[in-house]
Amino acid sequence: MIKTDVLVIGAGPVGIFVVQQLGLIGLKAEVVDNLDKIGGQCIELYPDKPIYDIPALPVCTGESLTNNLLEQIKPFNTNFHLNERVEEISKEANNWKIQTSGKKFFIAPNIIIAAGVGSFEPRKFSILGAEKFENNGIFYSIKDKNLFKTKKVCIFGGGDSALDWAIELSKFAEVTLIHRRDKFRGAEHSAATVKQLEKEGKLKIKTPFQLNSIEGDNKINAITVKNEKGEVNKITTDCLLGFFGLIMKLGPIAEWGLNLDKKNIPVNTENFQTNKEGIFAIGDICTYPGKLKLILSGFHEGALAARACFKLARPNEKYRFEFTTTSKTLQGRLGLKKSD
Ligand SMILES: Cc1cc2nc3c(=O)[nH]c(=O)nc-3n(C[C@H](O)[C@H](O)[C@H](O)COP(=O)(O)OP(=O)(O)OC[C@H]3O[C@@H](n4cnc5c(N)ncnc54)[C@H](O)[C@@H]3O)c2cc1C
Repeated sequence: MIKTDVLVIGAGPVGIFVVQQLGLIGLKAEVVDNLDKIGGQCIELYPDKPIYDIPALPVCTGESLTNNLLEQIKPFNTNFHLNERVEEISKEANNWKIQTSGKKFFIAPNIIIAAGVGSFEPRKFSILGAEKFENNGIFYSIKDKNLFKTKKVCIFGGGDSALDWAIELSKFAEVTLIHRRDKFRGAEHSAATVKQLEKEGKLKIKTPFQLNSIEGDNKINAITVKNEKGEVNKITTDCLLGFFGLIMKLGPIAEWGLNLDKKNIPVNTENFQTNKEGIFAIGDICTYPGKLKLILSGFHEGALAARACFKLARPNEKYRFEFTTTSKTLQGRLGLKKSD
């Protein structure tokens, strides 16, 4: 059980920045995200695209914004729990008990939901029976590439993830890259590299084919793939990797008894609290009259939610408003020395 002042759900730009606002006022946060990396939409959807409307940053990319935000929260040594989806929450006395998909438990008087448009989840194989092999032969992300050493691996997809992993795993696994179209969607140079590796006999390419069936009881032995002409081919394999992109789902948040307006959470704009005491919503997921789904709005929402969290985390202390420019206390929390 991890005890903290605030559990932040979502490591998008707004979830990261609120950690800084919480840290400045002396509150400890833990952050949970369903994805395997930090940055939310900025990293998952547009890491290289320029953003022009972050205050005082004339231009930055999704990736550089994320890196700068992470740099800004360094003094707070925050734990990020990635690849974990917050599944359940329940009230225990004055605290919330939070459970994740990986069975991590947190206890906190406050929860800040910075979950954007919901959790990003991989699109999965649609054939019947595929779910029974999930994480036991079928994977939609790679946590440890060494698991695939010397294995027969079928990689499905035509985008960057499929191409990049085909190139990487071909160094030590028997890779077959399967895509439903002849042309790959991923970067041209990666598509050229997989074709070159095929020529050199270092991987196989099978297009335009789709998964048709999986053979095996407790583990996968083989698959069949089919093309539009109805031609079926059998491939012996140990595992399948599916890289079909991500879908966004509100997911378990819809089950927590929070008021919802379509897929958004209405909040009180005084403190960004939801209809439940101690649960706040900020960033793209919250709604109120005039809401703008911009990163800068989320930053402001986080600043106010953080101050509201203070009341529940430190019921016997009085919150004092201070500037970072002049407050020695805040500068101390930022790890600055007198000379800085
Ligand atoms: C192509 C594109 C361009 C954009 N350009 C701009 C721009 O120029 N300027 C601008 O201000 N905005 C822009 N935006 C919008 C901006 O990206 C969003 O406003 C911003 O990402 C919202 O941040 P967030 O932290 O609220 O949510 P997100 O960035 O959506 O992050 C939410 C995170 O929460 C996680 N999550 C959700 N549910 C759970 C759960 N149950 N358990 C664990 N984790 C969960 C998700 O996996 C995700 O990582 C753009 C968006 C797109 C798609």
